[in-house]
This record gives sequence, C-alpha cells and structure tokens, in this order.
Amino acid sequence: MRRKSGVLLVTAFCTAALLIAQSSNKKYRTSPTGYRDTPLLPGQKWKVHDIDRPKPRIVTPGAGPGMPPSDAIVLFDGKDLSQWMNERKGQLVPAAWKVENGYMEVAPGAGTLVSKEKFGDAQFHLEWAAPVEPSGDSQWRANSGVLLMKRYEIQVLDCYNNPTYADGQAASIYGQWPPLVNACRKPGEWQSYDIVFEAPKFEGEKLVKPAYVTVFHNGVLVHHHQEIIGRMAHRVVGTYAPHAPEEPLALQDHDVPVRYRNIWVRRLRGYDE
Ligand code: MG
Repeated sequence: MRRKSGVLLVTAFCTAALLIAQSSNKKYRTSPTGYRDTPLLPGQKWKVHDIDRPKPRIVTPGAGPGMPPSDAIVLFDGKDLSQWMNERKGQLVPAAWKVENGYMEVAPGAGTLVSKEKFGDAQFHLEWAAPVEPSGDSQWRANSGVLLMKRYEIQVLDCYNNPTYADGQAASIYGQWPPLVNACRKPGEWQSYDIVFEAPKFEGEKLVKPAYVTVFHNGVLVHHHQEIIGRMAHRVVGTYAPHAPEEPLALQDHDVPVRYRNIWVRRLRGYDE
C-alpha cells in the first residue's frame, strides 16, 4: 500500500515538472508597434511600418457569411420597403413591390424600385431568386437587374439552362461584358451578388474617369475591375451622360416576379480615412 502511494506521488511530481517545463518553453515575445527610421513608401506620405500611420477603423463583420457588417447601410432586411420608392413613368411613387417571408418580389408593372439614399463608390450585397416556373426563355426568363446609379446594369436573369446572348447573361454588365463564368444556381435557389463599384467622374459635360466594377456571383469572381462603357442600353452601345456623384441604387421591373433579400451597402473610403 505504501509502495503504491509512493509511485502515485512520483508520477504526480513528474507530470507537474513536465507541465512547468513545457509552459516555460512558451516564450511571450514582443515586437515594436511601429518604426520611424524606415524609408518612405513610394507615392505615400507614410514610411514602411510607420508608427504614426492611423490605424484602420474597426468594423464588426456580419453575424454570418453575407450578413451586413457594422458600417453597412441596410436597404432591405426582409421586413419592409421603407428605404425604397417605385419609379413609374418618370414619377417617384410609394413602393408597391410585394414583401413576404423575408423577401421582396417584383410586382410586374409597379415600376423600378429606387433607393431613397444615393451612393457613389460603394460595396453592395444583394441576394435574388428566379421564379421556379419559367416565365419565358432567353431574356424573358426571370429578367430583372441591379441598376448601379440607376444606369449601369448588372443583369439578373435565370441562366441555368437558359441560352441567351453572352452579354445579357446573369451577372453580365448588360450589353457590354459577359460574366467571366456562368455561376448561376437553379431557379428558386437564392443567389448572391457582391459588387464593388467605382462611380464615373465628370467635369462639366466631360467624362474624366469611367465607372469600374468588380462582381462576385455566388462568391465566384465574374468581373475584375472592369471598365463600364456607358449606361445600360439594348441593341446599341450605351454612352455616358453627366450625372450627380451619388445616385440611387435601383432594381429593375422587367415584368417578372423575381425575388430579392438581404440588401446592404457600404460607402467606400480610401486608406487612412
Ligand atoms: Mg435586366
């Protein structure tokens, strides 16, 4: 009995010694939080690892993938259309698209849905779903669209087994650039667009910088900083016409009950802003 307790004591001692030895091997290491004796970065007013460079703002990410981060402007959270109007025959009227079960649905004929708030350079997240029942073929199958600044269309269309012209497919810059790949899900399934948009710049009547767009369709890159040729147009080449630095986001009514949900926007700022 005495021998057994002695063995136990020795075992416990050895285990404790081992744990202490292991913990002492884990050094806590420190590093400078910046430097002042490093070279200037080309084209910047900051040095490499500059200790005086402002730290990036803290943004709390969304609760899950695709959910709005803390600095997002939520335009639709599944409840109501308080952030929107319809535009019909050039007039803004109260929004009349259907809202139910956490999504909104195009009310054919109600007009384009236009955000009350206006945006220039921005990051957009939207989710959409095509009706399960086909509404037609080619451009009549679940046509809608994300109209950046009310003009520059990222096409919404059911392109799952629906042949149509390449620059009119889902996620195309309509009439200009096809998506790099067709990443469409089946009709009825929710699909996402994540869009980074740089607004065009005008000086008086003159375009001094075109718009650029980067788009992910269901997480797949489909446009990579692509220059936009001009406003959305059908069967002709769209051109630019001067407009304000900020314009509404709009969703197209193309006479088909396409659904949308989880729409949010972040205004873009530069580094050190
Ligand atoms: Mg469209």
